Amino acid sequence: MLPSRLTVLAGPTAVGKGTIAADIRERFPEVWISVSATTRAPRPGEVHGVHYWFVSDAEFDRMVADADLLEWAVVHGTARYGTPRRPVVEALAAGRMALLEIDLQGARQVRDAMPEALLVFLKPPSWDELVRRLVGRGTESEAERTRRLRTAEQEMAAEQEFDVTIVNTEIHAASDQLVALMRSPIHSSEA
Ligand code: 5GP
Repeated sequence: MLPSRLTVLAGPTAVGKGTIAADIRERFPEVWISVSATTRAPRPGEVHGVHYWFVSDAEFDRMVADADLLEWAVVHGTARYGTPRRPVVEALAAGRMALLEIDLQGARQVRDAMPEALLVFLKPPSWDELVRRLVGRGTESEAERTRRLRTAEQEMAAEQEFDVTIVNTEIHAASDQLVALMRSPIHSSEA
């Protein structure tokens, strides 16, 4: 059997998971990165099928009913996000390193469904830095920021549930560390 190389990257909101995933997409094309389905509206510049599959509530309901999603969750109390199952299974069957960039609730579901997955927690250098990044992003309203910070506080407390922690001090260094972990024989031999 091929070794499973599924890795889950989770961590508090605005820690830079999306930036790390984008950096890996650019510099490590050998890593397959899952494209999630979401019911939230696209932000300027986001492309259907690249950043997310932007779907209606009815379409998301159908995916849940048909068990098309490996995991899914309501994130920040607003939209639903989920990982389409089939592309993950296909990437693993092809022996590729597969990466999911998802929230904590989703990471827990993957751990239960696929205990061999490697769970990586991405952590900010400090809480103040996390707040600064969230405010600096400027894409959310004040109310949305407050809601996301509340979620982030709970998410920070979940670090010990993960196999490994990476501190996101510098983007390239963090993604280098993540890919090195994905490549490590310990990871594949544990599968
Ligand atoms: P954003 O709306 O800023 O793109 O993402 C919000 C949050 O949703 C992020 O924490 C991201 O990790 C999470 N997320 C994205 N895709 C998925 C998914 O497929 N499943 C789960 N559980 N969370 C996701």
